[in-house]
Amino acid sequence: MTVHTSFFENVTRYVDQAAALTKYPKGLLDQIKHCNSIYSFEFPVRGREGEIEVIKAWRVEHSHHKLPTKGGIRYAPEVNEDEVKALAALMTYKCAIVDVPFGGAKGAIQIDPSKYTLDQLERITRRYTHELAKKNFIGPGVDVPAPDYGTGEREMAWIADTYMALNPGQLDALGCVTGKPLSQGGVQGRREATGRGVFYALREACASLGDMKKLRLQPGIAGKRIIVQGLGNVGYHAAKFCREEGQAIIVAIAEREGAIVNPSGLNENDVFSFRKETGSILNFPGASSLADSKAALELDCDVLIPAALENQITSENAGRIKAKIIVEGANGPTTPEAEEILRENGVLIVPDIYANAGGVTVSYFEWLKNLSHVRIGRMGKRYEQAAELRMMRMIEVLTGNKFTEDQLATAAKGPDELDFVNSGLEDTMVTSYQRLREIWKTNQRIPDLRTAAFYDAIEKIAKAYLELGIFP
Ligand code: NAD
Repeated sequence: MTVHTSFFENVTRYVDQAAALTKYPKGLLDQIKHCNSIYSFEFPVRGREGEIEVIKAWRVEHSHHKLPTKGGIRYAPEVNEDEVKALAALMTYKCAIVDVPFGGAKGAIQIDPSKYTLDQLERITRRYTHELAKKNFIGPGVDVPAPDYGTGEREMAWIADTYMALNPGQLDALGCVTGKPLSQGGVQGRREATGRGVFYALREACASLGDMKKLRLQPGIAGKRIIVQGLGNVGYHAAKFCREEGQAIIVAIAEREGAIVNPSGLNENDVFSFRKETGSILNFPGASSLADSKAALELDCDVLIPAALENQITSENAGRIKAKIIVEGANGPTTPEAEEILRENGVLIVPDIYANAGGVTVSYFEWLKNLSHVRIGRMGKRYEQAAELRMMRMIEVLTGNKFTEDQLATAAKGPDELDFVNSGLEDTMVTSYQRLREIWKTNQRIPDLRTAAFYDAIEKIAKAYLELGIFP
């Protein structure tokens, strides 16, 4: 039996469960839960033959307790208002958990991007941006979009250019959107940030001896058998870092057209190139192919990383999931009913509102870079390099030994933008995990990490509202 519940209602259920453990009045909790502004609109574009097509789109700002609001833009044929509201709400809680000072938002255009030419996609994106600007739903201090499912750097550059054309001379205009190409005010490391964050999340989860013992797993990522669903931005990079930096084994990859399996390990890079060449991951050399993509979620593994879309693990398939750890790269991949089954089966779920927060964390760094108008680390790199070199020379004097040129170059490098971004991202993911685990383990009424994450977010948002007061 398939249970059709609203995605926004699912998020609300999670919020209610955590809110019941706090001491805040109902009215305040209602204000936290509801979407503050919902802009639903339609606009025309010209098709290939010059015909007019009406396009449906949304921007939802879930919470104005901190501004600007922040959240990606999704291009998908099935997207609807309920989904955008849910995704906007998740952004509010996510930002609170990783201490990024934004309210949550999300946008969507109801199209299948593969059905449009590049020129049409550009016109759709620019018109969408213009509609947002008309209603004050975009701006560096108002609402700052980013990439999501179906969009990337290309769309973000069009959005930035349109906004700048509409706001000539606005000094901070580049901060109106994040996830831009590097040459257009983007920041190093943003493209891979969500996947890198998923890797740090899994690494932290696997670092706890007690939690791993309970799951009958060895501590550490090395050797863990991982299944990834979705080889897009999040799934590809999560697989890459888990394999390259964590020495995990990617035993299966599931995509729209089916799944491929190789217990000895898949290289996501080769699979990506193969799919680009042939249009499918199926028949990838050395792997067996599964026509039923979703069946791959139920294969034997240690870790499952759903990184495609919401509602993938439901009450229908949850009981057959063999993974002991699920790290939610996608937003909302597990329904509340599935969560109950998985919890009873002892599965550790690292929830979306923490696990995929790496993207918004590095978007925050990009926004800061745009507002400060200088590349991160530009002022200090050479100074720090010189200081490191002085320290190395001092060691040579004290020990009477000489470093080789290679050793000096490696040790006295001076940090560049990517070093700072990754350091900030790693610190954010590590400290946030430790705080959530502490909340989970020290409060008997909190059954899992997801409830701990919502609890943490509600505490922070409620505090902000109480300090600010209610206008007027
Ligand atoms: P993307 O468009 O880059 O990739 C999604 C991939 O999933 C595509 O390769 C697509 O073919 C595949 N896919 C679609 N349906 C599938 C199915 N039924 N089974 C298997 N694969 C399927 O999107 P993305 O940016 O990687 O986003 C993926 C998820 O991560 C979404 O839930 C998104 O909201 C979430 N997320 C993304 C970011 C980000 O920075 N991009 C940040 C946080 C959360």
